Amino acid sequence: MAGTAAAYQSAEGGALDVDRAFYDEIATGDREPVESFTVPIRSGLAWEVPAGHVCRLVTLDGPQVGDLNIWNLHDPRERLWASRTRQLQRAHVSTYDRLWSTLPFLRPLVTVTSDTLAGYGQDAEGGRVHDLLGTRCDPYVNRMLTGEDFDHHCHSNLVRAVLPYGLTEFDVHDVLNVFQCTGLNDDDRYFMKDCPARPGDHFEFFAELDLLCALSTCPGGDLSVPMWGPGSDVDPLEFCHPIGVEVYRVDPSLLAGWKSPERAAYGGLHGMRRPQWGR
Ligand SMILES: [Zn+2]
Repeated sequence: MAGTAAAYQSAEGGALDVDRAFYDEIATGDREPVESFTVPIRSGLAWEVPAGHVCRLVTLDGPQVGDLNIWNLHDPRERLWASRTRQLQRAHVSTYDRLWSTLPFLRPLVTVTSDTLAGYGQDAEGGRVHDLLGTRCDPYVNRMLTGEDFDHHCHSNLVRAVLPYGLTEFDVHDVLNVFQCTGLNDDDRYFMKDCPARPGDHFEFFAELDLLCALSTCPGGDLSVPMWGPGSDVDPLEFCHPIGVEVYRVDPSLLAGWKSPERAAYGGLHGMRRPQWGR
């Protein structure tokens, strides 16, 4: 019987084993600030995080969910793969979890180094924080469900954020919902709860590759007002807050022996043979 153990496992010391002591050193060791800025409410910004740096997202003055996209800075075809990350790690991520990239790359883009909401665990209704179950809100589903147009959903905020980097709507992908509390109800349907973050809470990750990141401050703010259905006729503007972004260069002494992960080793041709030209 297969049972209910995690389906995706590696042998000890294999690809899913994380050197916790290494990431603990990064979380607590010396670092130098490189960049710091604020993503205002109902907007999106993109920024670079070089390999070997850490990036911290901070709820500055109140609860707010953020929708995060991540690409390989040098090849945007390699980007966060939310569904495989759910299988390799878990549906809600925290310290020591990794966010994995799409095929044919399949390697960790980041490793989470610090999460002040790690103690939230699972609440009485099955809610957990930092959600990979759902994806970004978007104007198409909003129009479909409400008949109204709105230009500041997370999808649109991310589209505007990445335009200066030459990327488009088609590069925006399924997100990590940072600071967002979600779960599946008894009917196996996706729910969103009030964001439990307080001023000063943070979610921090180590860049395993040179990255382009983009974050949207969800127009739903702390999600205390339903976005659709009963009760959604209130504009939650007063429940919207900015999110701070901080990038730090990790002290090089902490990175001795570390290098960016290689792309996946599979070198087959999916069962096809190389063509034998000229025969
Ligand atoms: Zn949103």
